[in-house]
Amino acid sequence: MTVIGGGVIGLTCALQLARSGYAVTVVAAEASEDTCSAVSAALWLPFEAAPKAAVIGWSRESFGYFAALSLDSDSGVTMNEGIALYRSEPHQDWWTAALEDSRDARPDELLGGAAAGTVCTMPFVKMPLYLPWLQEQCRAAGIRFVRERVQTLHGFAPDSDCIVVAAGLGSAELMADEEMTPIRGQVVRLSNPGLTDWILDDENPHGMLYIFPRGEDVICGGTTESGSWNTEEDPATTEAILRRARALVPALEDAEVLNAKVGLRPFRSATRVETAQQAGRTVVTCYGHGGAGVTMSWGCADEVVRLVRAEAGPPAGGYPAKPIYTP
Ligand SMILES: Cc1cc2nc3c(=O)[nH]c(=O)nc-3n(C[C@H](O)[C@H](O)[C@H](O)COP(=O)(O)OP(=O)(O)OC[C@H]3O[C@@H](n4cnc5c(N)ncnc54)[C@H](O)[C@@H]3O)c2cc1C
Repeated sequence: MTVIGGGVIGLTCALQLARSGYAVTVVAAEASEDTCSAVSAALWLPFEAAPKAAVIGWSRESFGYFAALSLDSDSGVTMNEGIALYRSEPHQDWWTAALEDSRDARPDELLGGAAAGTVCTMPFVKMPLYLPWLQEQCRAAGIRFVRERVQTLHGFAPDSDCIVVAAGLGSAELMADEEMTPIRGQVVRLSNPGLTDWILDDENPHGMLYIFPRGEDVICGGTTESGSWNTEEDPATTEAILRRARALVPALEDAEVLNAKVGLRPFRSATRVETAQQAGRTVVTCYGHGGAGVTMSWGCADEVVRLVRAEAGPPAGGYPAKPIYTP
């Protein structure tokens, strides 16, 4: 079994396949630390991903995994309270349908003149800890890693019983998929003056804003530039993000600016988790997660396992006695 891609999607698929008894090799062009996944902020938040019904389902399934993982301090996952602010009339975001408990914000919680808000507790995934933790879980499960850029699926890994394409934006070329487009995102990292709760302010009149404290640092974003392949930091964007963040949370005024990063979210009109024909062979796809790859990762990985079982049959040694669905 070969999984192409070593971002959050490839690693989670590989891990669930290995836990299901398959012998798995991960082939990835870059180190996980250099992927879009590493730039991710990363709050459990179904954002910039489609179609909604499937996104909600995968996200809800992943929520359970993350909630369980928050009990393991090595994983980098915590459950954090925060607020989603609304600038227009009171409403709820469509993704709150996936949350079990949330409440309307009190007037004294509405920052920056917001009209309404939702307060809820959601999984928060510290990627600098989580990606190494995932890789460690993969190694412990016997997964082999190969650093290689796959040029084409023609003739690739001929002995593999199944290939999973989980290569983020790179999947577009491998699958000749014209539905894929990058959504550029830039974030700024600051030292943390003592913030604990996350803030989402999508409707900020000066541009989308989020503030995610991660302990030592705070990630402030962001931008969504559809179709941009530019991976360089734009200093004017950094300044604009800082202006918005400091106006909403004055405590950030004196926080040291540590760096700025750019990631290209792999967006597709519909996240593609299915069995497909490509280069004369059957493959299982798992890509196009847009701005919610972390959020959907476990739900999608479990769907990949179901598809692989249907395609490749049981693993050589049979299914393991322990179910995979316990993190
Ligand atoms: C600023 C920003 C903030 C974000 N915030 C959040 C958030 O709060 N919550 C959330 O859920 N999501 C968030 N996201 C989105 C999330 O980061 C992505 O959805 C997710 O990282 C996609 O993961 P992936 O594994 O599909 O792709 P990637 O992380 O891009 O990994 C792709 C992998 O495939 C490999 N690859 C590509 N082509 C080839 C090839 N030809 N051969 C071999 N290997 C190949 C790459 O080397 C890499 O290992 C954010 C993204 C950005 C940019």
